[in-house]
Amino acid sequence: MTVQRTNTSRVISDVNQIAMAWAQEHAGERLGTKWYDGETSMEPSEKWPVSELVRLAIRKIMTEAFSKETSMSELTESIRAASGFTKEQSRTVAETEGSLAMCHGNLAAWKRTGIVKSIKWRKSSLHKGRDVCDLNANAGSIPLGQAFPSGDEVPPAHIGCCCCPCIAELNEPKRTNSV
Ligand SMILES: [Zn+2]
Repeated sequence: MTVQRTNTSRVISDVNQIAMAWAQEHAGERLGTKWYDGETSMEPSEKWPVSELVRLAIRKIMTEAFSKETSMSELTESIRAASGFTKEQSRTVAETEGSLAMCHGNLAAWKRTGIVKSIKWRKSSLHKGRDVCDLNANAGSIPLGQAFPSGDEVPPAHIGCCCCPCIAELNEPKRTNSV
């Protein structure tokens, strides 16, 4: 994933550890649901059904992608080989599952440390035209853990969404009474 540009930074490698931990538990969860058809529902998809075996294979591939340097084309090819999806579908899965793990990994880390008060939705310049991400970006600072207008706590709001969450405000540092 993004390991290439980050492996000298301990902070970012911690985030990749967190993305990896998220991927291990959740990657592929939305595959085979209507969310992947462009709807908000997590009901099973009739257009693009995905077997449990394929879901678990992709979960493993995504988890490994965060553990070592992996390019998007390698990741796409691994997903294609494991799933029988087309190249285009595999690319969509690679990008979407990568984004889910990165953003939700961040969210989990921010919640755990308790230092982040509110976040903003930074809209990706790759969005063509207006969509729900404009509403999310226009909403400004949202307290951590609350949903943006799309119903999501962090991006992606839909497949192909390359938006990022960013910290808006930090909590006041807690005074530590050393014992
Ligand atoms: Zn977006």
